[in-house]
Amino acid sequence: MSDAIKSIVIVGGGTAGWLSAAIIAAHHKNRPDETLKITLVEASDIPTIGVGEGTWPTIRNTVRMIGIDEKKIFKECFAGFKQGGKFVNWVTEDDFYYHPFTVPLGYGQMDLAPYVEEIEDFALEVNYQQEICEAGLAPRSLAEGEFQSVCNYAYHLDAGAFANILKEHCKSELSVEHFIGTVKDVILDEKGHISILNLESEDGPFELTADLFVDCTGFRSLLLGKALGVPFVSNEKYLFNNKALALHVPYEDEDDPIAPHTIATGQNAGWTWDIGLTNRRGVGHVYSDAYLSDDEAEENLSKYIGQSLDKFYIKDISFQSGYRQQTWKHNCVAVGLACGFVEPLEATAIMLVEVAARYIAENLPAEQSTMAVTAKRFNQQMDYRWSRITDFLKLHYMLTQRPEPYWRAHCDPASIPDSLKEDLAIWKYRGPIKSDFDGVAELFPAASYQYVLYGMGYKPDYSRQSYLYDQHKNAERIRQKNRLMTQQLLQTLPPHRDYIEHWLEQ
Ligand SMILES: Cc1cc2nc3c(=O)[nH]c(=O)nc-3n(C[C@H](O)[C@H](O)[C@H](O)COP(=O)(O)OP(=O)(O)OC[C@H]3O[C@@H](n4cnc5c(N)ncnc54)[C@H](O)[C@@H]3O)c2cc1C
Repeated sequence: MSDAIKSIVIVGGGTAGWLSAAIIAAHHKNRPDETLKITLVEASDIPTIGVGEGTWPTIRNTVRMIGIDEKKIFKECFAGFKQGGKFVNWVTEDDFYYHPFTVPLGYGQMDLAPYVEEIEDFALEVNYQQEICEAGLAPRSLAEGEFQSVCNYAYHLDAGAFANILKEHCKSELSVEHFIGTVKDVILDEKGHISILNLESEDGPFELTADLFVDCTGFRSLLLGKALGVPFVSNEKYLFNNKALALHVPYEDEDDPIAPHTIATGQNAGWTWDIGLTNRRGVGHVYSDAYLSDDEAEENLSKYIGQSLDKFYIKDISFQSGYRQQTWKHNCVAVGLACGFVEPLEATAIMLVEVAARYIAENLPAEQSTMAVTAKRFNQQMDYRWSRITDFLKLHYMLTQRPEPYWRAHCDPASIPDSLKEDLAIWKYRGPIKSDFDGVAELFPAASYQYVLYGMGYKPDYSRQSYLYDQHKNAERIRQKNRLMTQQLLQTLPPHRDYIEHWLEQ
């Protein structure tokens, strides 16, 4: 008798739950009914986190693979294009640099950093996207189709509306069953695997069983953390932030430009995010309560938006930075906040949901007898990813020159992970290169590290092997090409808001 996995129950109807359901169900959309049943259950009395508006470029393929039109995302989620991040006041209190999503020209063939005079200008000299963002332009013109563009991009979107689109699509197109109910009890079998979920609903109690349970219950981590007792690994000694305030800010004028990038502005003990949707901005302050009181954080936020906060609804969120020691245990795998969370500086959370759900989808129908191997491999990958994310985020802090105690503490060697110290030892004499990041579990390309490292003014000492860097003519040719492309794109790409409005009218 086959012991293939025939039923999956996903608990939680936030972005993680519905995105997982959509990715798994879309991957198996041609399944006959009896082969794989996918059910999502969510509590009506436990709200979703309700934030999470910035995404990573992987989202485009995900949306396309699920089978949703890009226009629908823009219309119903009030979405804007996100072409990268602008980091303001991270080095001093008067500077900025960009982490654009498009890789440098010549990427993988020639590292242009040794030929750039002012290393802080790296992004500007080797890529056109910073100028496109500064000019407030869309990443494509009306001549290009859905999901296409010259500039790499992700989305800024309304998280609640996105979950709703996914829900509707899962139910109408992908045969996902949906129940409303609150899990009250998780019953384990003699081997410690989850066997039954006991739920309460308006119509009374009911129970659900499955071959595989996907825990998308948010910070509660009800199945993996609570029922299966998988410990939480804190990484707060590297990343100190543990609080966030979030609010929606209307545009002064409905025709105001929409920033085509996330703006992350360094504050005295944290940073603010600013995300432009078509109907409003999503603004928030992430900070550490060891260095900043809630009142001070509100003051920072009020100063940032240039208005009193009195008339705004402010969402106040506490979080612990870290992740579960195992992501997949026995017949339960956690996705989203139930698996872990680090501050949203590079919008890694939704990207990790995509990665995890795709792994689950691609490894089904796994025989139950091979589940332990599937889980072990996934756990190894996720462990690596969490440490890479920690390193990459920490890189944004540790090169700062800001004088406040919070920023000085980020430069303390005791607060820097050993793996990042090792990277920096290598990058002392050469910058990050593609082959530093070619594993299957890698999330960020070398280009991302280059943009942050150089943008913050870090220049490797190329003098030890200066003979490697004598391709001045080639370098100048590529930079010249970049200047030309920048000029052309500045003339041809439309303003961000205009583009979205015209495109949606088509
Ligand atoms: C301040 C902040 C800013 C963020 N910004 C970004 C960003 O810009 N980009 C990004 O990628 N990510 C961001 N994130 C993370 C992002 O919000 C989450 O990863 C994403 O929303 C997924 O959340 P979730 O679905 O795991 O959890 P939740 O949204 O909390 O959903 C949990 C679900 O579980 C259900 N549930 C809980 N208990 C039970 C129960 N007993 N029975 C049944 N159902 C239950 C709830 O009803 C709910 O449906 C941010 C997070 C924070 C805190």
